[in-house]
This record gives sequence, structure tokens and C-alpha cells, in this order.
Amino acid sequence: MKKLEQLYEGKAKKVYSTEDPNVVIVSYKDDATAFDGLKKGTITGKGAINNQMTNFLMQQLEKVGVPTHYVQELSDRDTAVKKVSIIPLEVIIRNVSAGSFAKRFGVEEGIVFDAPTIEFSYKNDDLHDPLMNAYHAVALKLATWDEIDTIKKYAFAVNDFLKKTLLECGVTLVDFKLEFGKTADNTIVLADEISPDTCRFWDSKTGEKLDKDRFRRDLGNVEGAYQEMSRRLLGK
Ligand code: UDP
Repeated sequence: MKKLEQLYEGKAKKVYSTEDPNVVIVSYKDDATAFDGLKKGTITGKGAINNQMTNFLMQQLEKVGVPTHYVQELSDRDTAVKKVSIIPLEVIIRNVSAGSFAKRFGVEEGIVFDAPTIEFSYKNDDLHDPLMNAYHAVALKLATWDEIDTIKKYAFAVNDFLKKTLLECGVTLVDFKLEFGKTADNTIVLADEISPDTCRFWDSKTGEKLDKDRFRRDLGNVEGAYQEMSRRLLGK
């Protein structure tokens, strides 16, 4: 499968058309941004790690009943995926307080919840991705109630699977962001990526951060954290 023309360039990926109108190629970049694009940088090797980690996890998720956009890994950085229209909701699941949750509610990071939480943000850069509830999403016709129910079911299934898989690698899954898309026949599938860019991973023993917070907060050894996650999860 070959790249035809570039359709889109985002902060961390480029998307290309292919001969198949139902398939596009995503190409993962080493570019990193944070704080609404205010902080910019490069994390060498990130694109390849995020690509391979996402593909590994999506293939496993298919087996536990979560449909995804994954089609075929083409190279270190490039993957063929189903062409979808992205539902403009960032779906965030949390197991432990951190980041914007800790800030918004005035609590410390590291509070372990009895049950995971779910929240939505409206994916809209101009508005800075405001928090949004399901009623708002339905009112704005971003999704139907049935679609919201499906998204919630899949998001919690991803959490169950990911939490367990990571625990076996000595990693606590603190929180993560998912995006869903609709295929040509209106099926909802998991899209985007699952990587240290979109999840918070803490070493289960030491609490060491093994994710993009090292970049956001200038903690150093950013590349090392991505490589460590690749070693633990992919064995390379
Ligand atoms: N997240 C993301 N993209 C975003 C916002 C958040 O991938 O645009 C991820 C983030 O990496 C974390 C989780 O979603 O794993 C929860 O992020 P939070 O709401 O705490 O926001 P942050 O503190 O990252 O601004």
C-alpha cells in the first residue's frame, strides 16, 4: 500500500490517502506539543514507538471485542487504518487523580479511585477543548445517545484491558485519552493512538513517570521514558 497525497497534518501525525477510498495511512512524527501547542519540541524515536505501541494494543483490543481503525502496520512509523470521520470528543478515563483533574478539583495527584471516571472534552482547538457532558454532545449533534453508550462501553473495556496488561509490566495506568471515529457504514471504532503521548503511565513501584509529562514538566530523560515503555510492553 502506497501514500498518494497528504490529506492532513496534525501535531503528531500526518495522514495520506491511498488507492483504497476506505483506507488512509497515518505517519507518526517525532514532534511533540503541550499546553495547547504553546510548548513545542522533538522526542527522538517517539513516532516509531507510538506507532508500534498503538498497533500492538489495538490488535489485542480487537480480540477482546473493541473494534478499532487498525488495518496493517506498513513500517516503523506508518500504518494503514480505516478511513473514519472522527467524533470530535476526547474521551478521558481516569483511575488515579492527576493533571487537569487534580488542578480543577484542587486535590493532589495520586489519589486512587474506587472506580474509573469518564469525561468528555469537545475537540476544538479554537475553544481549547472545553469539558463537555453527554447532554451537551447530543444537543450539538456530535453523537447520538446510542453512540455515547457505545463509546462509554468501549472506553471502559479499553481501561480494563489496558490496566491489566500494564500492571503485568509493572506500570500503573493513571489516565488516558481516546478518540473514536465512524466508518463509511456508520460503525463506531476506536481511532487515533494509545501511547505515552495520550496516557499517563507511572512505574508501579517507584511512581516514576513514563509518559509525556516528562516533556510537559521538563523532567528530563523524555526519550528514555518512551523507550522504557516500549521495552516493557513490546519487549523492544
Ligand atoms: N490527553 C491527551 N490529549 C489532550 C488532553 C489530554 O492525550 O489533548 C491525555 C493526557 O495525556 C492524560 C489524559 O488525557 O493521559 C488526561 O489529561 P488531563 O485532562 O489531565 O490534561 P493535561 O493535564 O494533560 O492537560
